[in-house]
Amino acid sequence: MNKHEVIIIGGGPAGLTAGLYTSRAGLNALLIERGIFGGQIVNARQVDNYPGFPEGISGFELASLMHQQAIKYGLETTTAEVTAIKPGRTYTVITTEGNFETEAVIIAAGSEYRKLGVPGEEKLLGRGVSYCATCDGFLFQDMDIAVVGGGDTAITDAMELSQHASKVYIIHRRDQLRASQVLQQQALAQPKLEPIWDTVVDEVTGDNKVSGLRLRNVKTGKTTNLEVAGVFVAIGIVPNSKCFADIVELDETGLIKTNELMATSAPGVFAIGDIRKNSARQVASAVGDGATAAPSAFKYLRERS
Ligand code: NAP
Repeated sequence: MNKHEVIIIGGGPAGLTAGLYTSRAGLNALLIERGIFGGQIVNARQVDNYPGFPEGISGFELASLMHQQAIKYGLETTTAEVTAIKPGRTYTVITTEGNFETEAVIIAAGSEYRKLGVPGEEKLLGRGVSYCATCDGFLFQDMDIAVVGGGDTAITDAMELSQHASKVYIIHRRDQLRASQVLQQQALAQPKLEPIWDTVVDEVTGDNKVSGLRLRNVKTGKTTNLEVAGVFVAIGIVPNSKCFADIVELDETGLIKTNELMATSAPGVFAIGDIRKNSARQVASAVGDGATAAPSAFKYLRERS
């Protein structure tokens, strides 16, 4: 069995940064990615809020540059899906392509936005359908848009979006928001925000870009069309943490609990990026997590030896 000092699970910005820093620190590190290196960011047409690129950069290019930079400093990578981590004197990382032994693990497996699962949502992704208000809000200057969801994310997104849009509808499946009272009061006092209660989205309409939403009132069954240029889906996230539940402590939503040094409840196991509780879910914060976890892993290994 291959033996490494550190195994990094997930090749998005967090994992690639951890790979860069661990390799430059001289650790024998392996990064395991199940799909495309770069993670979710490869789908972003343009990233305008990552420092150092004042003209913006495509997500694909940013991911490729991060990958190249980590490889340049000796990071080993492989493609496989991790299915479990087994504790012992060292950790065994079980994958679809075989098992790997390691002294420390950095989990950077990310999360996925929960999808509405309605017609038009996938087709119009990046053409008016978005899951990230911070990334895409500025595209909707003086336009009417909608946010779906009633939690803290939906409400903070709606307030952020109201700085750009002329009107922000909040479409919620119940007649009460889940968001904290403070946020609710702030949002409901904001004249640009208009809640649409007891309502779900049945379809996102539009040919090449979003032109509207087909809505259904869940109490009356009545359907209506709402004209909007964009829709921000904020109905929660699904962390890719199922296969780590036996080894590290998760919160009730499946996010991995860490301290400020990215350490989890298991010694020598660190978690970074979108999979960890309290992540800001930005490329910049994922990169920061990776740069924090690498020295933490280094210190753990040195104290162990
Ligand atoms: P969340 O609290 O789980 O809320 C998800 C919202 O989406 C709920 O209103 C839910 O409706 C709705 N929803 C779920 N599935 C749906 C579906 N299939 N169709 C339509 N609506 C659906 O998620 P979140 O808002 O992303 O927050 C996640 C965590 O981050 C929370 O702990 C939150 O407090 C925290 N957070 C905090 C802040 C802050 O500023 N303090 C900001 C963002 C996030 P129901 O209410 O009917 O279940």
